[in-house]
Amino acid sequence: MEEVDTTMMWLGPVKLGLNPVSAADMYLFVTERRPKNEHVDPATFAAQLRALLGGFPASLLQRVRASIGPDSQIVFRPLEQLLLPRPWYRGRVVLIGDAVHAATPHLASGACIGIEDALVLSDELSRNEEVPSTLQAFQDRRWERCRMVVENSARLAQIEIEGGSRDEHAQIMRESLMALAQPI
Ligand SMILES: Cc1cc2nc3c(=O)[nH]c(=O)nc-3n(C[C@H](O)[C@H](O)[C@H](O)COP(=O)(O)OP(=O)(O)OC[C@H]3O[C@@H](n4cnc5c(N)ncnc54)[C@H](O)[C@@H]3O)c2cc1C
Repeated sequence: MEEVDTTMMWLGPVKLGLNPVSAADMYLFVTERRPKNEHVDPATFAAQLRALLGGFPASLLQRVRASIGPDSQIVFRPLEQLLLPRPWYRGRVVLIGDAVHAATPHLASGACIGIEDALVLSDELSRNEEVPSTLQAFQDRRWERCRMVVENSARLAQIEIEGGSRDEHAQIMRESLMALAQPI
């Protein structure tokens, strides 16, 4: 949909948003509170998604809703997180990305910090020939930023689930995005 040229978000019975990924393509995300992680039959995904969008009167959303059908690509997953305790390396093997720090998508930064890992690792490898100290230096540079993204994303998720403080939510968003704007 061409009119989706920037991220748009709605808050109601569920949280949802539209994200453009190219001039012609976009994706819809919806997060809902589910008390249990029960199995949901994929054959019901489209109908359940349409039902979740039913409570939003915005005409754009209603057009998106009308376009959801059996051929729609719908991914249904619980939101999970992981922050692997250090060390993230052993010998000459090191882990980066979601393998060590998977965040819920509330700061939309999981892939970004994974890409940063790769940049920092190559930077450290280019100026140090000792592998153990290189991997330790990599870990030292990455730990605090990745911990912040995982833990702040989890707190944002908790506030949204519990209908918690909007001020705290806004403050965490602001502080996290300012921290992420700092050089790696
Ligand atoms: C709903 C949602 C929205 C998100 N939105 C954003 C966003 O807006 N911005 C952002 O920066 N991040 C976002 N993320 C996070 C982002 O998707 C992840 O942080 C990122 O994909 C992690 O990259 P990765 O390469 O570390 O791991 P992955 O993308 O998980 O890649 C791991 C790969 O390894 C493969 N694999 C696993 N096991 C094996 C095996 N045994 N053999 C061979 N291959 C294997 C998998 O198939 C997969 O292809 C979002 C995540 C979710 C769930």
